[in-house]
Amino acid sequence: MAFELPPLPYDYAALEPTIDEATMKLHHDKHHQTYVTNLNGAVEKHPDLGKKTVEELVSDLNAIPEDVRTVVRNNGGGHVNHTMFWEIMKPNGGGEPLGAIADQIKADFGSFEDFKKKFNEATAKQFGSGWGFLVFKGGKLEIVTKPNQDSPLSDGLYPILGNDVWEHAYYLKYQNKRPDYLAAWWNVINWEEVNKRFEKAKK
Ligand code: MN
Repeated sequence: MAFELPPLPYDYAALEPTIDEATMKLHHDKHHQTYVTNLNGAVEKHPDLGKKTVEELVSDLNAIPEDVRTVVRNNGGGHVNHTMFWEIMKPNGGGEPLGAIADQIKADFGSFEDFKKKFNEATAKQFGSGWGFLVFKGGKLEIVTKPNQDSPLSDGLYPILGNDVWEHAYYLKYQNKRPDYLAAWWNVINWEEVNKRFEKAKK
């Protein structure tokens, strides 16, 4: 298979109580797996696609053959978004941001509290399924929301962090209370990994 589901970098229960074990199990083993399976289905029709990374595929959707472009957009996007998502979280994460991203957040949003408020408000308002992302554009951090599994990579922007607001990400524990999930999510952020991604975003 061209693309494979990356193993979760911690146990299913490791992000309790912020994200419950059952949600993690379904989200990783079923939802993420389905994106990978569907992406591989597109590669079967066009084997050349398997020579590229998923980031490369999603970064240049116009280069994807038309008959599988939507499949790659949705499922390549799903694969790349979820791979990031698992990596930017960790058990005993959260707290105040560290390193260069802490300084940039302060410069562009005033404080971590102000940044979180803006991010959570914007992402809470994403209608239906989608994501909230932090990107670096023109030398400044910017919050963007995307529907479905669309990635900022398709706009030439590298996602530094992102939160999944598909109902499958929070409904078992938080039901309809998306803002509660958004507020709690910062307790599991892996700031070391976010800093690594910020370095990449600056290049
Ligand atoms: Mn998801």
